[in-house]
Amino acid sequence: MQKLIAGNWKMNGLASSLAEIEALKGLTGQATCDIVVCPPFTLIEKAVAASKDSAILVGAQDCHAQSKGAYTGDVSAEMLAEIGARFVILGHSERRSAYREADASVAAKAATAQKSGLTSIICVGETRAERDDGTAIEVVRAQLEGSIPEGASSSNTAIAYEPVWAIGTGLIPTVEQIEEVHSAVRKVLEERIRADGRSVRILYGGSVKASNAAAIFQVPNVDGALVGGASLKASEFAGIIAAAV
Ligand code: PEP
Repeated sequence: MQKLIAGNWKMNGLASSLAEIEALKGLTGQATCDIVVCPPFTLIEKAVAASKDSAILVGAQDCHAQSKGAYTGDVSAEMLAEIGARFVILGHSERRSAYREADASVAAKAATAQKSGLTSIICVGETRAERDDGTAIEVVRAQLEGSIPEGASSSNTAIAYEPVWAIGTGLIPTVEQIEEVHSAVRKVLEERIRADGRSVRILYGGSVKASNAAAIFQVPNVDGALVGGASLKASEFAGIIAAAV
């Protein structure tokens, strides 16, 4: 399966940051994986223009569940698709915790994204306390059951397993822990969407860097990465992409 490497810029980046996309183009000409950069809303259209004539695709970090209406401050999937976004990250742990985004809301957003032709990267992952009390698999299973919409398929959905305690901390689960969770995610996908569940890409996210990416990509059922901090610098992000053979 061709790996998917997605960079989440979070609330970082002004127009000057588009130089990183220009640099990334130069560094990833030979890449054999799918590459996605998800800048803030304000840079999406410019990022689409900057990545023209390259393999780099552009995504958003959230969308609303409705396609239009009285939702001050929100942006719909249809609007994102119109300006050239192809992916959208949904249910990131920062949104689940800061905005109390529940699984049902993630599923509703993913359903609209699907209608607009966007591929959703649905994020799941346990907290430190849940890892410590042995409920990580249970938590991830429940998040998946609630967050995957009807009609999900390998062409409109990817899953990102991101242990909350590994995001931005430099901490990383053992390869055995990653393998255990990814295999549980695969099982849910096969239960939910049958044979095509085998082709849905399952990304690992949480403190991925150029120096640890190759080891993570060796783990069965790891089909790519969702990268935060290390996606902000083209040279570091390109190192991760190079490891995704
Ligand atoms: C993320 O926020 O999705 C993430 C994986 O962040 P980082 O790579 O910085 O841990």
